[in-house]
Order: sequence, then structure tokens, then C-alpha cells
Amino acid sequence: MRKRWFSLMAAALLLGSTLVPAAPAMAAPTFKVPFPCGQSWSGQTRSGHSPAYAIDFNRTDDLGDPVVASAPGTVDRVTDLGGTSYGKYVRINHGGGYTTYYAHLNGFNVSVGQSVGYGKVIGWVGSTGGSTGPHLHYEQRLNGSDIQVRFNGSLALYWGTKTYTSDNACSSGAGSGTVDTSGTPLTVRSGPGTNYAAVGTVADGTRVTIQCQTSGTTVTGTYGTSSIWDRIGSGRFIADAYVYTGYDGYIPNVPRC
Ligand SMILES: [Zn+2]
Repeated sequence: MRKRWFSLMAAALLLGSTLVPAAPAMAAPTFKVPFPCGQSWSGQTRSGHSPAYAIDFNRTDDLGDPVVASAPGTVDRVTDLGGTSYGKYVRINHGGGYTTYYAHLNGFNVSVGQSVGYGKVIGWVGSTGGSTGPHLHYEQRLNGSDIQVRFNGSLALYWGTKTYTSDNACSSGAGSGTVDTSGTPLTVRSGPGTNYAAVGTVADGTRVTIQCQTSGTTVTGTYGTSSIWDRIGSGRFIADAYVYTGYDGYIPNVPRC
């Protein structure tokens, strides 16, 4: 987690406001190019596209190339529309109203309900549905409406064709954080929740290596309320609400458990 909850409360008091500030809109996920690290793909936008802000990706001999999740999330559609529209497509729900679509796939590598992280292969480039040649049709949506695509926060080219090079999951592996409980040792659990057995503690101020993150019991801690749990060893989980990681949500490039 990043923001200190109590600091925010104190700031509100200092301002002397009696109004409860509206919850800020959740920040957009950091979306990555939906292909493996290091690959370069030609992405085309055009005003006649449906929906308008979608990108069609190609590269030489791309039929069957892997397509990867552009941000962590939960797969909520794995659908085959047959010979029309998207054909075989996957939708990933990233939370906060954000979804991404991957269409005309040759095949699927995920199922509905599956948690995916950066770089997870979700399927392969194909030409299914209303497609006249192999390509990946990719969309980012907010609350169901297509939005202009951003990679690492940078707007894609509208309108035209540009080469996009993927840094998706280039630095995979562990993240790190610092336990902050304001004094008390933090309980380590055998799984991602307060209902799992206590298997030890870590002292306040301990630097921890985070192998992967997952969602579990919602906990309110130093950095606010979160259902994210950090795995710091085999069968050892701590609540992310007590860990300074530099990020409000999941840490980019740290895998889901
Ligand atoms: Zn398209």
C-alpha cells in the first residue's frame, strides 16, 4: 500500500473541513502492451473502427503468437461468438470499472474466474469472428465504454499506425515492502486471511520480500483498507494494509499467487 490512511485523515482535519471528501476515482491500472516482454507490434487505430478507440495489432507471421494480459485482473469472459464480431475473445476485469478485450483469438489459455497477472498468456492471435486476417483486436474500457488506449500511462496514437514495444512482465519476480504497524509485530498467516492459522510474526519496520500477491480477507491497517495479501514465504502471508510497497493496489510485475 502507499498512502497512509491516518495522514490523510489528519490532513482533512487540518483543513478544518467538516465535509467528508468524496472517494477519489480509482486510478487506472498501468496497462502494458498485450504481448510478451521485448516484442514489437504494429498497432493501428482508425476512426472507422468499432469501437472507435480499439487497436488492431499485427506483426509478421503473427498467427498463433501468444497474447498476454495487459494488467493484473480477473478473467470474466471467455466467449466464442462463432463467425461474427469478436469471434473468440477474452475480457479481463481490472477493478475500478476498467476492462480489457482481446478478440479474434485462435484459442484460449484461461478460464472465467481466473486471476491473471502481467504477462500471463491468455490466448493466441487468430482470425476468428468477423476478421479477414490474423490480428489482435484490443480494447480498454471504463464502465463499459471504450476509452483511448494508454500503455504505461501514455496515450496511443490516434489516428494512425505506430510500433509499440512491450515491457510487459519484463522484470518479473519478487517485489518488496516494509512492514509498518506503528509498533506491534504483524501476524503471519498460513494463507491469505485472518481465518488462517497464525504461523509467526514479523517485527514493525521489517523489510520483506513479496513473492506474489493475492486477495483474501479485508483488513484495515496503517495504509487503509485492503483485501490484498502478500506472500513472504512458503505458507506465509501478511496483510498488505500494513506493508509499505509504494503502490496503492497490486505491485506491478509481482505475480498473483
Ligand atoms: Zn479491430
